[in-house]
Amino acid sequence: MNADQIIETESRHTSGLYTKQPIIFVRGSGASLFDINDVEYLDCNSGHGVANLGHAHPKVAAAIAAQSTRLMTLFETFYNDQRAELMNLMGNFLPGMERVFFCNSGTESVEAAIKFSRISSGRSEVVAAMRGFHGRTMGSLSATHNKKYREGFEPLVPGFNHVPFNNIEALEKAITSETAALILEVVQGEGGVYVADQAYVQAARRICDEHGTLLIIDEVQSGFGRTGKLFAIQHYDVMPDLLCCAKSLAGGVPMGAVLIGSKVSNLNPGAHGSTFGGNPLACAAAVAALTAIREENLAEEAERKGKYLIAKLQAIHSPLIREVRGLGLMVGIELKQKVQPYLKALQEKHVLALSAGLVTIRLLPPLVITYAQIDHLVEVLEEVLVGGTAGFGE
Ligand SMILES: *Cc1c(COP(=O)(O)O)cnc(C)c1O
Repeated sequence: MNADQIIETESRHTSGLYTKQPIIFVRGSGASLFDINDVEYLDCNSGHGVANLGHAHPKVAAAIAAQSTRLMTLFETFYNDQRAELMNLMGNFLPGMERVFFCNSGTESVEAAIKFSRISSGRSEVVAAMRGFHGRTMGSLSATHNKKYREGFEPLVPGFNHVPFNNIEALEKAITSETAALILEVVQGEGGVYVADQAYVQAARRICDEHGTLLIIDEVQSGFGRTGKLFAIQHYDVMPDLLCCAKSLAGGVPMGAVLIGSKVSNLNPGAHGSTFGGNPLACAAAVAALTAIREENLAEEAERKGKYLIAKLQAIHSPLIREVRGLGLMVGIELKQKVQPYLKALQEKHVLALSAGLVTIRLLPPLVITYAQIDHLVEVLEEVLVGGTAGFGE
């Protein structure tokens, strides 16, 4: 198909659920994406935080190719060499979190964590944070606060209650002896790149312990080096009971997982499961991805590059910018107005960025982004936010 045929065909057959951009990407390498005419774009979307390792990482690609000729599918009732390798890595990430459940996406990992907290505690109520995002299937959607995602799909799962983020008093009131779980992102991604306070996360742990409530940390976006540590919760000296991850776990191959702490009980045969979960292909990709994250020190890279990027962004003098914030390479630039025209202007200059809420530009570049690419990103942002203000919807 030529370019026109590709766009016409997708436009005709799309579900309609996505706002399409008129660019056809056909390949990627590191932090770059290339369109059908081989024009290069700097990718600060990373597929919403999937491509932490960059695109087409050679070690992940080789692992997928090799495993695809050996064995791709095997239900978790049987043992497998690749799954054992992955469990050995993941089961030793965090002290006291030795068990792992595998699934195929972020929302599935949240669904599983919610179910595990209910069966473990014998309770049904779940407390979640306002502006939090946990996915779009019915359980995860019930934990997600924004009405933009919920409207039209009610009634959702009963028993969910939302409290303001970073507010300890509200947690004290909301969590009771009826609460199965508290679910939080420690850096809210979709909601606007809001970083949790130290005192808040530590209070969350204490309040959960006081009431026998399980603490679920959703690291689907913040995991695997993104914030400068393997997991964002490691900035807080707090251990969760359940940790949800997905996005970057298998280097681009769909995969989700839940790390399970010692307080979680009653996970017996048949209580939950997944056909594709823990399949050898995804496991082999994840082993290669996690090994590369460690070998290339990508968490440390994210910390250093994030500090460099945030300092440069804070030095931009633009009347449009309200605040620059973030952790590692999970960065938000809050504007005083809606971001859509600015994202479009960036895209015209071959830089891809995301929104987070209505007024925040979100940058989630691959952790392998080079310093030259960061400098280029800042230059283009400066052009758009300082030089280009007159042209945009004021
Ligand atoms: C993306 C995301 C999800 C949902 O993941 P999917 O793979 O799209 O289902 C859940 N939680 C957080 C924090 C996310 O960023």
